[in-house]
Amino acid sequence: MPAAFIGHGTPMNALQHNRYTDAWAAVGKAVGRPRAVLVVSAHWYTTHSALTAMERPRTIHDFFGFPEELFAVQYPAPGDPELCAEIAELVRPTWVGQDPDSWGIDHGAWSVLVHMFPEASVPVLQLSLDASKTMDDHLDLGRRLAPLRERDVLVVASGNVVHNLRRLDHRRPDGAEVWAQRFDDAVLEVMTSSPGDVRALTGHRDFAMAAPTPDHWLPLLYLAGMAAEEGAHTETLVAGHAFGSLSMTSYTLGAIPGAL
Ligand code: ZN
Repeated sequence: MPAAFIGHGTPMNALQHNRYTDAWAAVGKAVGRPRAVLVVSAHWYTTHSALTAMERPRTIHDFFGFPEELFAVQYPAPGDPELCAEIAELVRPTWVGQDPDSWGIDHGAWSVLVHMFPEASVPVLQLSLDASKTMDDHLDLGRRLAPLRERDVLVVASGNVVHNLRRLDHRRPDGAEVWAQRFDDAVLEVMTSSPGDVRALTGHRDFAMAAPTPDHWLPLLYLAGMAAEEGAHTETLVAGHAFGSLSMTSYTLGAIPGAL
């Protein structure tokens, strides 16, 4: 089973059809029906490591200032408590708690999944981003998830390599500021050659502008870790920018016939 990092952009992508959502849909078509999807979403950035363990995860609308129809979106995929326990075991000795009722499926996950698996019949789990962990810890946890590829679980890390909401320019829906393009290019270079070196990008001149908060950056480290564990590099699924300061670039690990 392949794995992916998806640049999810604004929640509106859940309702729209564009070349990014087409690429996400193509991944879903190409992989068929995996055992489950494990999502590492920028929007579950919290103070502990946890996996959703509920049978019926709720759809979380963790945003404001968007149209009613976005709040009406439901993604009623089942959970998979058995797989939750299996993953908690897999990543040992790293400790990951099992969350029976606090989280669910947030928009970092469902805005992508409504395109990837529109029927919402494939079980979905989320893994939180533990804010107390170092970048090395996140990369290492990504490495530990690599065996899931052989267990028919699709790992989807969902964030944005460049995510600076203060610099959004709504007059430029497909535009990129110079620094945003430069940082996105630098990430692409590393992800397509030696993903294990991705941490070095925190020393890049544009890192502070690209990732003023860590939440949307960290999911990339999970795909980078999985690739590094296999001595592989990732491929670009789709590249581009939105509103000057959001990268929409996505990466995949493992062959996705017809999607690239
Ligand atoms: Zn987001």
